[in-house]
Amino acid sequence: MKCALVDPDGVVRHAERHPTDAGRGPDAVVETILTVAEGLAGKARADGLTPIALGIVVPGVVDEARGVAVWSANVGFRDVPLRDLASTRLGLPTALGHDVRAGGLAEARLGAGRNTGHVLFVAIGTGIAAAHVVAGSAATGAHGAAGELGHILIRPDGPVCGCGRLGCLEALASASAVARRYAELTGTATDIGSASDDGSAAEPGPGRTMVTAAEVASRAAAGEEVATRVWRETVEALADGLATAQALFDVATIVLGGGLAQAGAGLFDPLRAALRDRLTFHREPHLVPAVLGDEAGCLGAALLALDQLETP
Ligand SMILES: [Zn+2]
Repeated sequence: MKCALVDPDGVVRHAERHPTDAGRGPDAVVETILTVAEGLAGKARADGLTPIALGIVVPGVVDEARGVAVWSANVGFRDVPLRDLASTRLGLPTALGHDVRAGGLAEARLGAGRNTGHVLFVAIGTGIAAAHVVAGSAATGAHGAAGELGHILIRPDGPVCGCGRLGCLEALASASAVARRYAELTGTATDIGSASDDGSAAEPGPGRTMVTAAEVASRAAAGEEVATRVWRETVEALADGLATAQALFDVATIVLGGGLAQAGAGLFDPLRAALRDRLTFHREPHLVPAVLGDEAGCLGAALLALDQLETP
């Protein structure tokens, strides 16, 4: 959990982090969120500040209008009325949002997409999710599930996705998919520093680490054959996904965040070219890396909190 006291102008006055420890179950996680939020409000008052609103963002499906965390695979939320729980506990107007949409909001208003109007923020990590931000506001969808770019169909005969279908974008191009594909093709599934003694192609077990997507990117840049192939396939899959997104949203700027976006020119140069190849009459968006890092969601939560003060 990334937490911060943020000024109305977006300046972070204080930041802290706490373990989510989702294994304790959703009730315990909710209690931790409320306790940490209370602590932050107390810290603000002790520092002579006046807390005016609270923003909380969580992963999964979020009904922002009702303030309910509808569903989350990772934390186990099922219809948790988090907004009302928090506003009752803290006595502050509270907004509840979605982590990636909040991150997109922050990048669009304070980060890499500022002043460009129509922005698509795409977070590429263990999964892939997106936020479509227009005029400083992220579309939530009718059921709180807009922006699931990771689950558009890219390869009908592709690998199975976490959602159960074959060939979703995130089954091909998420950071975990890249690492998995490289491990399959090299038959190692181990970190180079801890390669198996017998050279077997076992699944990575305890103590063994798969080569990360970032490492695959740097091996590709160094010309290693398998890494080059995996990286090329990744770029092609991402370009297919982004071309579909551009056909749907016609944005000025696509901001890529998450671990994979830190691959720099090794990702952005070939991806820009591959995206350009796929566009016909659609205008090419600016394709840029996120600049707010892993604090984007936290800043977005603050923006949501401030926004709801202006919306009666
Ligand atoms: Zn899927």
